[in-house]
Amino acid sequence: MAVKQTAGREALGEFAPKFAQLNDDVLFGEVWSREDKLSLRDRSLVTVVALMSQGLVDSSFQYHLATARKNGITRQEIAEILTHAAFYAGWPKAWAAFRMAKEVWADEDAGDDGKGQHQKEMVFPIGAPSDAFAQYFVGRSYLQPLSTSQVGVYNVTFEPGCRNNWHVHHAHKGGGQILICVAGRGWYQEWGKEARALHPGDVVNIPTGVKHWHGAAADSWFSHLALEVPGEDSSNQWLEAVSDEVYGQLN
Ligand code: MN
Repeated sequence: MAVKQTAGREALGEFAPKFAQLNDDVLFGEVWSREDKLSLRDRSLVTVVALMSQGLVDSSFQYHLATARKNGITRQEIAEILTHAAFYAGWPKAWAAFRMAKEVWADEDAGDDGKGQHQKEMVFPIGAPSDAFAQYFVGRSYLQPLSTSQVGVYNVTFEPGCRNNWHVHHAHKGGGQILICVAGRGWYQEWGKEARALHPGDVVNIPTGVKHWHGAAADSWFSHLALEVPGEDSSNQWLEAVSDEVYGQLN
């Protein structure tokens, strides 16, 4: 996908139209856009180090730090990148770069890195906090719709310790749910049965009418794709939360 850039035209479109066009259409529109050759994250890493090594701490450096964060470089990683580069580019340049990096990652506390790390292990986006379903979950979950026509497919992400309440997928014909585990470690349990540990690649077929829950392990983020099996008059029935007692016994 092409990276859209308008900074060149906005700043220099009249004064240096060719430079603006090269900046927006070639540097960003073509080189930055070759995601199939090198990811945006890696391009950000290269760019930040290249600028930092010249001692540039102007607005362009700030822009590229913000872009690096947007492209998935975490606070922990930028600290490591600048520390490493300091030995090759020069200590004072790292000091200068750190001042700006601290500002760019200011609102991301160290505890957020688990989420960033989890995202890096997964091709599907984590998506937005799942506020609409929060009442049926213990802990925080995230939802990213992947398909909303034909068959509904959603990527559901659970923070460590998060799980949904006991629930039942109902339908008069067909229906039920399929889980495809994509990252991290989690659990699936049917009422009256032992819990099943889940790992990336595992598939769970959940028939209609079976009371169950799914969620993350206590010490790991977890994501599964949830597929809604088409059925007649399908509905979800949400029940009681999975108690700390039941969840705490899992290991
Ligand atoms: Mn379910």
